[in-house]
Amino acid sequence: ISVEELRELDKKHFLHPTTPIKEQQVEGPELIFESGKGIRITDVNGDEYIDGVSSLWNVNVGYGRKELAEAASEQILKLSYGSSFFNQSHEVVIRLATKLASIAPGDLNVSFFTSGGSESNETAFKIVRHYWKLKGRPEKRLIIGLENGYHGVTMGTTSATGVPEFKNMITEIAPGFLHALPHQTECEKGDKSHPNYERSIRGIIEKEGPENIAAVILEPIQGVGGVNIPPEGYLKSVRDLCDEHDIFMITDEVITGFGRTGKMFGVEHWDIVPDLMCVAKGITSGYVQLGAVMMSSKLRDELADMSEGPMFHGFTYSGHPTACAVALKNIEIIENEGLVENAREMGEGLLKGLKYLEENHKITAKARGLGLMAAIELFKDPETGEGFAPELFAAPAVVAACKQRNLILRPLIFGGMNAVAIAPPLISQKQDIETIIEILSDSIKEFEQKVL
Ligand code: PLP
Repeated sequence: ISVEELRELDKKHFLHPTTPIKEQQVEGPELIFESGKGIRITDVNGDEYIDGVSSLWNVNVGYGRKELAEAASEQILKLSYGSSFFNQSHEVVIRLATKLASIAPGDLNVSFFTSGGSESNETAFKIVRHYWKLKGRPEKRLIIGLENGYHGVTMGTTSATGVPEFKNMITEIAPGFLHALPHQTECEKGDKSHPNYERSIRGIIEKEGPENIAAVILEPIQGVGGVNIPPEGYLKSVRDLCDEHDIFMITDEVITGFGRTGKMFGVEHWDIVPDLMCVAKGITSGYVQLGAVMMSSKLRDELADMSEGPMFHGFTYSGHPTACAVALKNIEIIENEGLVENAREMGEGLLKGLKYLEENHKITAKARGLGLMAAIELFKDPETGEGFAPELFAAPAVVAACKQRNLILRPLIFGGMNAVAIAPPLISQKQDIETIIEILSDSIKEFEQKVL
């Protein structure tokens, strides 16, 4: 089958996620991938690209790991499918739940499995509402997310998401979701005189009444919303606030989990333990679909004591054996190869490189990153913060210029932002980071020459 035929069939039969339908229909796919090895991915024309964003921030151990293929194949031959409904179980899901308990922060030692991030967050919402309902307090049901937060695409997670663009397919959000301004540490600590107080989590809790709030959900570092790293003390202030009012703190570690930020989990940078932690993506490095919601056995036991029947919630693929076998091997690779430490070390180099770009280009500012989760922003005038006109598509143009140079990055353009995200696989080496910075620099220069 020729490349042209592939392109035509794609246009005809495939509706792509998060892609302008018209563009796909008329132009066909921008890239058709064929293979991947390490941090590189090759398309059907034989062109090789550095994957500078680990695909969707998920290919943590890089492409083409034989160990993961073998783990999947051995498991399929041994037990291709095993349900864990109706109190059935199987070995590999038990071993994965046990492994996660040993690496998760604090007392999070019980896992509920899903097939991805949206399902994990959706499950967390149902669990916290179920908890308060069982307690005889069904009115304690509101869930507060953050503006610019991203939690997935199901009805509940779309509603919890604070990036307005992701709501374009719904006519109304699901009942009981509210949004607060992110990173308002002073407000969360109780500074009522602050101008943002009313829009802070604390301000919203005060307005709605803590007796009506079930949970707060937030990403330790907002990903899709701009790689927004919270100020020191912010997560602790939210933890304290939730404790003060008996509100569940849910952290969405879908991107930040499994070493991405230079710690196994993002919250470890700020030494807090959430009540529920949602993971996906890096748990299998994207080789197969898996997600999980983690909680303490204390919470699980409380649910058990209050429940009369089953928790009517579960996916056919909750704890799929192949996914669990791959996750176990993937975590083993992350640990044995010191990839969490490598992400931290390479991340320092990456951030230094981005700071260098900031100093050496007229249009760059706000370089930020933790581990291998980083971004840099483009401004017409970084001094005044004046952005580029939307029709210039600044970040997409720079990303397109990177692609011309065989580097894949991702523009983050929600809310008028023009950021470029950089999040290569955790196996990246010094030379790879240098190449990424060099290409990004050349691409920014090309854009500067066009617009300045
Ligand atoms: N949460 C975060 C922080 C994410 O970045 C994503 C996906 O990008 C999700 C949830 C949704 O995960 P999934 O696409 O696996 O449903």
